[in-house]
Amino acid sequence: MVSATVVLREYDAPAYIDGDFEPVASDWIPVLDKAAGIPIGRYADSSADQVARAVAAARRAQPGWAATEAPGRSAVLRAFARELEARHDELITLLIRETGGTAAKAEEELGQSVTQLLNSATQLAETAGDILPPYKPGKLSLSRAVPLGVIGLIVPWNYPMSLAMRALAPGLAYGNAVVLKPAELTPIAGGQVLAEAARAAGLPAGVFNVVPGDGAGTGQALVRQPGLDLIHFTGSFEVGRQITQFAAGSLTPVVTELGGDNAFVVLDDADIDQAASCAVWSALWYQGQTCITAGRHIVMRAAAPAFTEAITERVRRLRVGDPLRADVDLGPVVSEQQLRRFHDGLVLPSVAAGARIATGATHDGLFYAPTVLTGVTPDMPVFTEEIFGPVLPVTVADSEADALDLVNRHRTLMNSVFTGDPMRGLAFAERVASSEVHVNDGYARPGGEGQQAGFTKRQWIGVQTAPVTYPAWAEARH
Ligand code: NAD
Repeated sequence: MVSATVVLREYDAPAYIDGDFEPVASDWIPVLDKAAGIPIGRYADSSADQVARAVAAARRAQPGWAATEAPGRSAVLRAFARELEARHDELITLLIRETGGTAAKAEEELGQSVTQLLNSATQLAETAGDILPPYKPGKLSLSRAVPLGVIGLIVPWNYPMSLAMRALAPGLAYGNAVVLKPAELTPIAGGQVLAEAARAAGLPAGVFNVVPGDGAGTGQALVRQPGLDLIHFTGSFEVGRQITQFAAGSLTPVVTELGGDNAFVVLDDADIDQAASCAVWSALWYQGQTCITAGRHIVMRAAAPAFTEAITERVRRLRVGDPLRADVDLGPVVSEQQLRRFHDGLVLPSVAAGARIATGATHDGLFYAPTVLTGVTPDMPVFTEEIFGPVLPVTVADSEADALDLVNRHRTLMNSVFTGDPMRGLAFAERVASSEVHVNDGYARPGGEGQQAGFTKRQWIGVQTAPVTYPAWAEARH
């Protein structure tokens, strides 16, 4: 067992609105320990009425919170961080059980959440805007950062706490109120715990509200609420597209953080051992269930046999099991639905189309053997779709130009290129159409989830400090 393991209480996760945990009128739904398959708590779907009341409570509370002096808001955010830290051992165990990740993944997530609160507590006290250059004599021009208002926040299950916190912490810091809908698979670490900690920290009632529930009911009810000032969504392309289309009708601004069909490129002069270790780590951390997981492994023909052998050998040694055990590398995938989506929907059709299984592609319940597929061609589903599971598909490229073309065929969030010549890697990276490329490395964990921006808008205030003369017609001087 990992050292932090504690016996958890049975959690209830009802709606948290205007500072109160509400009585539950509908049925409770169990929240499962993803490895053991037994309940660790329960949540209730929030109704459209509850969502409306949560948004109304946020609307009422927001002006007072925005008017709270910066040191006061900063103190509440620091207290919020202390509340989470004080529950460290409990929350590590909870994150392991509720997400199915290892202790290392849970530590990463809790650490990021605390850091995000502390960073936001500092940033809010640092600056409130700028003084602009004068454009006319005697005019003082100020550009002031003001809160957006009420933010609707929708979060997935893979990093339920830190993906909520990356918008919640800066959102609150800059004087916004937030209504959070956590994912239905993770409403405790992603909602209930945050509500408890915020309340204990003294965040005023209504500034932060949580409406657990499914996407089709509670999620839709939230995005349909009139008057949200921002919808902040992290999740799949499909749902992101639906939300964006819907919000276009009311012109509600939407931030979408979506998935990626990320590429891991090995050029013919790469250090194979380095590339293989990084590939296994980047593809299989948290069972490959992150948006920046290395998905497509595109390898130049000369490097392909050695690279494939090196990753297969490493993958075969990985230990799959209950992530509460310290000797386990990979826990379960999060749900039967996810397993069916990538195994039945992507892996098996790719094998039927000619991909070869070097190792894996079997499962015992949700415990999926990490998998290496070779002979993957660009038309196969494991190449064309985001896998979001513990699978490394290897595709051979005939040239560097061919590799680049394959990378750029799909939308990516994060990519890697391995080469013995860093300048060759830099030149390759410059031609990758993506916001993130690493030469001879995977992505920058831990702490890779950066602080999100965009939780304020700018207000220009001009103050005429010296008398000014207006045109004669305006002053009626003719
Ligand atoms: P999902 O889109 O199915 O669900 C995400 C959230 O949206 C959940 O809370 C869900 O209940 C809600 N939702 C579902 N349908 C809805 C609807 N019609 N209206 C409103 N809300 C709705 O995604 P998921 O399976 O939970 O997460 C996996 C996806 O998230 C992957 O594609 C992954 O790449 C992406 N992701 C992206 C990032 C990032 O920062 N870019 C981070 C993590 C995960």
